[in-house]
Amino acid sequence: MGKQSTLAERLAEIRDRISNACVRAKRDPSEVTLVAVTKTAAPEQIREILQLGVTDLAESRVQSLVQRAGQINEFYSRKLVHGNDKTIPRLRWHMIGHLQRNKIKQVLPVASLIHSVDSLRLAEELDIAGAKAGRRIPVLLQINASEEATKYGVAVGASVHLAEQIDSMPNVQIVGLMSMGPLDATPDQVKSVFARTQEIFEEMKWHKIGTNNFRHLSMGMSNDFEVAIENGSTLVRIGTSLFGGSKPDHVDDSDE
Ligand SMILES: *Cc1c(COP(=O)(O)O)cnc(C)c1O
Repeated sequence: MGKQSTLAERLAEIRDRISNACVRAKRDPSEVTLVAVTKTAAPEQIREILQLGVTDLAESRVQSLVQRAGQINEFYSRKLVHGNDKTIPRLRWHMIGHLQRNKIKQVLPVASLIHSVDSLRLAEELDIAGAKAGRRIPVLLQINASEEATKYGVAVGASVHLAEQIDSMPNVQIVGLMSMGPLDATPDQVKSVFARTQEIFEEMKWHKIGTNNFRHLSMGMSNDFEVAIENGSTLVRIGTSLFGGSKPDHVDDSDE
């Protein structure tokens, strides 16, 4: 990626690489959604990427998510009205970082999907909040599928049971899994983490967890999205390859 490349060029390159990974994996590219992680993006870059057709944006901190959604949703809806274009799809914000229970109230009005549910207590609080809001909240269960001792994600051995518990909650809807590739790992190590997440995903499907709504695998970031797609990813979360910026610490950058 050249230093002088524009956002449009970088986006085109990422889209090409997504398509090529789909071809290699014999998958339809429409199965994979690019989620643009805006934590290092300037506001102009976010507006530009929306005009380039990206409809899914993500933040890893509740405060940034709420703030950015406030600014950007207004711009997007103005574009909708003025463009008078009924074909403009809905803008979706994804919460991809660790979520504290005391921030659920703030995140619910803006997040279309929460990728980071990793405990029964958090799911129970979401269930209560969903009941109050009168809707079923879609979530992904975050799995700690790598051997390294990361802070977040449910342990592989506990994941099926937790998924079943969440599936029994009336106001939370489990729609899939999320996992992170290990940092500083070899390509084989990254691949084994994604393959393992896919196996757990298939096992849960076999158990009929989430029934027909259980269809998302959120895996892959700037450095590893192609191998994630080859292992079934449907949501790739890409930040620095699009927007530049310093390499964030993926493990510790969420709300504390
Ligand atoms: C920051 C972040 C990303 C994006 O990572 P890049 O390497 O910048 O593409 C994806 N997922 C999570 C959970 C993140 O915190």
